[in-house]
Amino acid sequence: MNFTLHLTADCNMACRYCYEKHSRELMSEETALAAVDLMLSFGHKNNGFSFFGGEPLLCRGLIERVTGYAAEKCPAGGKLSYRITTNGLLLDERFMGLAKERDIRIALSHDGSLQDAQRVFPGGKPTSGLLEPKIDLLLKYQPRAVAMLTVMPENVSRFAEAVDWLYRRGFTRINGTVDYRPGAKWDDASMEELARQYGLIAALCEEHYDDVRPLEYMGFEAKIASYINDRPCVECRLGVRQPSIAPDGKIYPCNQFLNDPDYLMGDVWRGIDAAAQRRIIKEAAAEESSCRGCALEKRCRHHCACLNHSMTGDMHSVPPMQCAHEKALIIAADRMAEALYKRKSPRFMRAYGTE
Ligand code: SF4
Ligand code: SF4
Ligand code: SF4
Repeated sequence: MNFTLHLTADCNMACRYCYEKHSRELMSEETALAAVDLMLSFGHKNNGFSFFGGEPLLCRGLIERVTGYAAEKCPAGGKLSYRITTNGLLLDERFMGLAKERDIRIALSHDGSLQDAQRVFPGGKPTSGLLEPKIDLLLKYQPRAVAMLTVMPENVSRFAEAVDWLYRRGFTRINGTVDYRPGAKWDDASMEELARQYGLIAALCEEHYDDVRPLEYMGFEAKIASYINDRPCVECRLGVRQPSIAPDGKIYPCNQFLNDPDYLMGDVWRGIDAAAQRRIIKEAAAEESSCRGCALEKRCRHHCACLNHSMTGDMHSVPPMQCAHEKALIIAADRMAEALYKRKSPRFMRAYGTE
């Protein structure tokens, strides 16, 4: 099980696509430690914590306290794992040392060559210059750190260029996504361009697939693996696998349900409300009628309740934009897989057991 701890809604950036309603609200130490106690009370072997925001490094003291407390309380044989997604501005030697000591995996949100067009300071000043030494520092300690990239419709024609920038800058694992805000202006032309860009990204991955530093675009890998292994590309288990804890200690089934009273499922002091959890699991299990019979059903993220809920207000209504996006991603991934298979790429053959 994994808890996503929303340490704060505050942030030191003002990205143009941010959907977060920034406020100064912070999770208290008492709340964060109660979340640890609750997690350990389940008696699972694997206990995961993701630190999320806003910008979670604004609460670095709390991260230090939570990871120290969890190590002290975790029974023998229990495992702890930690992840953090950060905008990178507050990374320094001290935090990287802590991350090394406590095995905190760091993902950096960075938009490559689109950084200054999309990820800016409040007031609009660019952030890329300040992040240069932070990237060096991160890759020194965690060479396989993931770079998380988002593209807005107005910049979609530079999506592949941004992926290439991150690869050349030293990242080999890149997780791209698109601006999913309900108001984002995706239209037929920008969706067509997105499909073209996925083709270019696939060509880039193909080119570097067997290099000493292979380029791994994580969206493609998930689609290929789900086809070859005949498994859904994401195992969601809404409300069970990855509950989100708000700064006030209330528990929700996943990130995009935060503060929605209809999806409240307990708090860190009283624990998970079993009846509310059952209701949410039942609701999530219902099938999206618009996807019934689609050949891509298993390989598509149509069931992401978070995304559907945030874009349409209903966890089972898949926005047309998401349908088109998933199709474009799967087509590009399949073309890449076909090319790699044809040329008998050693890494591809090893990874997917097709030798
Ligand atoms: S760093 Fe994250 S939370 Fe902060 S403004 Fe950007 S997208 Fe929003
Ligand atoms: S969202 Fe579209 S591509 Fe995905 S399963 Fe539904 S119909 Fe198929
Ligand atoms: S709702 Fe979406 S984001 Fe949340 S766990 Fe499921 S697939 Fe992941």
